Amino acid sequence: MNQILKGQSDRTQAQIIYTSQELTSDLASMVNRWLVNQGTPELKWRSDARNFIERTPGVNEIWWIDSDLTVQWSESLKPLHHIDIKSIISQPGIQTKLASAQRDNLPEYSPVINTDDGYNIIFILMPIVFDAQFDGYFAIEIYIDEFLARILNDPVNTGFYTKAYAGQEVVYADGPQLQQNSYLEFFELNLDADIDGWTFKIYPTDTVLTTILSPLPYVVLTGGILIVFMLLMTLLSRHKAKNQSHQLSLEIKEREKVQQKLSYLANHDSLTNLPNRHYITQYIEQYIANSDKAKIPFTLLFIDLDHFKDVNDTLGHAMGDQLLKKLPELFSRIFRNHDIIARMGGDEFIIFLPDKIREENVIALAERFMKQLKYPVEIEGHQIRLTGSIGIAMYPRDGTTVNELLSNADAALYRAKDKGRNTYAIYDSVIEHKAQARLKLVNQLHEAQEQQRFEMFYQPRYDAQGHMVGAEALMRWRQAENDYQEPKAFIELLEDTGLIVSVSWQLLSESCQHFKTLLSSHKNIVLSFNVSARLLEHPEFLSRLKNILDEHQFPYDRLELELTEQTLIQDVENSQYILNQLTNWGINVAIDDFGTGYSSLSYLKNFPVHALKIDKSFIHDMNEDQDDLELVKTMIVMGKNLNITTVAEGVETYGQLQKLVAMGCDEFQGFLFSQPIPFGTLQSHLQQLSDIDFAALDIVDGSN
Ligand code: C2E
Ligand code: CA
Ligand code: CA
Repeated sequence: MNQILKGQSDRTQAQIIYTSQELTSDLASMVNRWLVNQGTPELKWRSDARNFIERTPGVNEIWWIDSDLTVQWSESLKPLHHIDIKSIISQPGIQTKLASAQRDNLPEYSPVINTDDGYNIIFILMPIVFDAQFDGYFAIEIYIDEFLARILNDPVNTGFYTKAYAGQEVVYADGPQLQQNSYLEFFELNLDADIDGWTFKIYPTDTVLTTILSPLPYVVLTGGILIVFMLLMTLLSRHKAKNQSHQLSLEIKEREKVQQKLSYLANHDSLTNLPNRHYITQYIEQYIANSDKAKIPFTLLFIDLDHFKDVNDTLGHAMGDQLLKKLPELFSRIFRNHDIIARMGGDEFIIFLPDKIREENVIALAERFMKQLKYPVEIEGHQIRLTGSIGIAMYPRDGTTVNELLSNADAALYRAKDKGRNTYAIYDSVIEHKAQARLKLVNQLHEAQEQQRFEMFYQPRYDAQGHMVGAEALMRWRQAENDYQEPKAFIELLEDTGLIVSVSWQLLSESCQHFKTLLSSHKNIVLSFNVSARLLEHPEFLSRLKNILDEHQFPYDRLELELTEQTLIQDVENSQYILNQLTNWGINVAIDDFGTGYSSLSYLKNFPVHALKIDKSFIHDMNEDQDDLELVKTMIVMGKNLNITTVAEGVETYGQLQKLVAMGCDEFQGFLFSQPIPFGTLQSHLQQLSDIDFAALDIVDGSN
């Protein structure tokens, strides 16, 4: 029996130590989360505390008591439950414990308190300390009954009763009055260094007694010796247990401290001491998970300092670092205590604003921040002024995962920078999707250029006798074999990105090569090549052009460059200079899309121009719109007066052709004769017949 009781006693002791150890470690983790987070926002704190209460039997309520011993918040699962925590912590005995908890950075335990409704409770006082930082305490209220009952299980199942004493007072008993029972085993545990130990007494239940002990007289006889022996054991074990338990608590704390330090380092940026990318992403992830279906809103500001690189480049990295170090203070002037400021790396920061904030208030905050940034920061005698760009995204509106939100805030930031920096942009899915599509297209264009997927098609041009006088090179983007994309989908972007310059040179070279072979049999045809503004304004325009022509030994007078009025008037002086040079070389210049520009016709006199290409929109509407017809007529007459060839673009019907011929237009181009075609097709076309019998077109074109 003695052996059996001893076994049960050891098991019970181990279980209690283990559970207490778990509790301490769980609490230390909570403190850890708090510290890493630099003052957890109330909402997050509550959810953390609630989780703790839920998973810890016997815990009903947790309070945060700040460093001034003011009770700030509490969280309880039982709404009606009331404990006068203020009067408890004002007791001198508890005050001493709070002080030593802070000093030793170890949890302290209150003596047992009897509540009005007859429960025994104790408080764990957990200090929130890390290095020099002290944020007060967590006070955790534990119901002894509930706490021990979960550990010890039902006596009917275990076969043993347990009775716990704090000092002389019975604080827990799960069996009948057992004072008379001579079979018992007990151990002592103390919770901290200076509290009197708790005694746990273990008794067998009647069932165990009757089944195990039949030779009762033997026990009565030896009872006296047993009790003396047990007393001795108790004295020894009491001392041992007291030290053991305290030692354990110390070890756990020490281990937690190291972990705290490690996790602090993993979660913080060493330069600014702000939470880092790792931390903030995890935090947001957790926040979203905790708010779960409730989708408690929050806002993210993605901040990027403008031209921070210049600070590093001109004043050195050390200075840049010092500037970054000053930022947390600057941030804290604008953002609230429970907002989280994290450094994403470099000069990028994330501000997490919990709760729902109206858009106009977010904007006001962003504007205040930008204003604050502009005040000069002094570092080693240098006055540095900063500006920043901000991208804003809101949960759940602009994304439901941390990645989505960060990437959308980043997209908005990108747009803010695009707007000229020192401003903010709020994520807008329509705008950002367009921007994304554009970005994707830009990448594809780069790729297409590298893989030489831009090719030239050619559209022939005819004079009034039906002789082919040349062809216009029109760019196509080869997607797959026999699948070509027309320029309207991408030409603007090619120009915006400046890619048009390299693509143009590559294609000019290709067209020269093509035309070189045609010229051997058709000496008089002209290659028309479109020149965009970006190309014309390029400082090396003339020299590159000359190089390519010379490389292919291409006769200058067989090339015509098409430029729009818009292109020419962008830099009139430069245009004039270049056009003069081109004319000197014998290269022809045509004004493209003529009539659509806003330039006055007087400009024409300033530019040496060889041909006018009347825009296809006038040709298209000529038959229905009398005004357009008049305009076309005027353009043709003007061309005649200035001795400039007039070319009608976009001729689609025989009726149009007839009218144009009648008005005296010199040359024609359009689907009526041919679509733009690949070089091979143009070549065979030329070999068979280069001229067109206009009269024969009448049959094809039924409209007139
Ligand atoms: P553009 O210079 O005015 O070229 C004439 C456009 O009209 C071509 O469109 C041609 O296919 C189309 N077209 C020809 N005949 C007809 C017709 O009868 N009816 C109609 N509705 N359209 C006709 P494309 O090839 O799509 O080129 C569009 C524009 O892209 C060109 O207008 C030009 O501004 C630009 N582009 C094309 N290739 C190049 C290039 O190599 N360099 C530069 N800078 N721009 C180019
Ligand atoms: Ca053209
Ligand atoms: Ca045109």
